[in-house]
Amino acid sequence: MASRVLRIGLIPGDGIGREVIPAGRRVLEALPASLGLKFDFVDLHAGFETFEKTGAALPDKTVEVLKNECDGALFGAVSSPSTAVKGYSSPIVALRKRLDLYANVRPVKTVLSAQNPIDMVIVRENTEDLYVKEEKTYDGPDGKVAEAIKRISYRASSRIATMAGEIALRREKIRKAGVPSIHKGPLVTITHKSNVLSQTDGLFRATCREALAADQFAGRVEVEEQIVDSMVYKLFRQPEAYDVIVAPNLYGDILSDGAAALVGSLGLVPSANVGEGFAIGEPCHGSAPDIMGQGIANPIATLRSTALMLEFLNEEDAAAKIYAAVDANLEEGKLLSPDLGGKAKTDQVVEDILRRL
Ligand code: ATP
Ligand code: MG
Repeated sequence: MASRVLRIGLIPGDGIGREVIPAGRRVLEALPASLGLKFDFVDLHAGFETFEKTGAALPDKTVEVLKNECDGALFGAVSSPSTAVKGYSSPIVALRKRLDLYANVRPVKTVLSAQNPIDMVIVRENTEDLYVKEEKTYDGPDGKVAEAIKRISYRASSRIATMAGEIALRREKIRKAGVPSIHKGPLVTITHKSNVLSQTDGLFRATCREALAADQFAGRVEVEEQIVDSMVYKLFRQPEAYDVIVAPNLYGDILSDGAAALVGSLGLVPSANVGEGFAIGEPCHGSAPDIMGQGIANPIATLRSTALMLEFLNEEDAAAKIYAAVDANLEEGKLLSPDLGGKAKTDQVVEDILRRL
């Protein structure tokens, strides 16, 4: 049987990143041969320790290899020094820029038997809005005034909405491939504040509407919209109402952390940084210096990030296998890491999940 070979860059980074990224590699290697997938791995460096050793937090070689040789990558975590260190800046932020990874995708999911089950994905635009960082301070008649530019473009809004629609359709495929969910049909919720910001958020809203009315989505994806403040309220009261949420950069940032808080541990929440034909899976947690070296980090955020990366490489069946195995481990609740109230070590959780593949 012909098999597809995917070359994956592994960037463990710092702290528990080094303990969880190997789990991502193991789950890829353990996927059933019937999927016709093979993996090739390349070890790459980035992070604070890399900075201390080489003077660069994101060596050029890492970027070049990702660009020229890899189909996707897994990124662990990097420590952020508590006080600014001269010459150091976050390598993942730089990587998003250099590879034009314009979307940050964050699924948030509880077990289905949870009291308020959640199964949503927040799709955050990652290149503009207030994050263009064009700020200035000047002296006004009554003291200092500071201003920031909020930039929203048709192009960025259109491509993020299209991605949200594609994700909604793919989630339906994954449900059909046997990953149970609380949702029936694909739904995209557009978030904005266009009642106040009629031009910027108004453009975002109208452009999302237009993109999601395209032939590929019409009649297949339900589209609704919600003002961001009322969305926060509903997110906490009725989280099961959301499937895919598409948001401009700042609201997306806030909503993703808020939603992550609803599932109990940072150790469960994955993400992907996605651009044209490239995706980097990245657990949402940081380097967790408080638990590093003890072998107790929860690997699930990384395993789910690995599945998410596979989704963007158009390997939904492989992704579905990983999601289902992770869900089964959580649903059974016998082999859980300490952040979830269990006693299992990282390796025991990984082995339980691999067994279920
Ligand atoms: P950083 O500066 O790298 O973000 P941090 O001190 O903010 O480090 P985080 O990694 O953001 O630490 O984690 C916040 C808390 O959540 C810590 O108490 C950490 O132990 C816990 N945590 C994060 N990830 C995991 C995980 N995968 N498994 C278990 N606990 C985790
Ligand atoms: Mg942190």
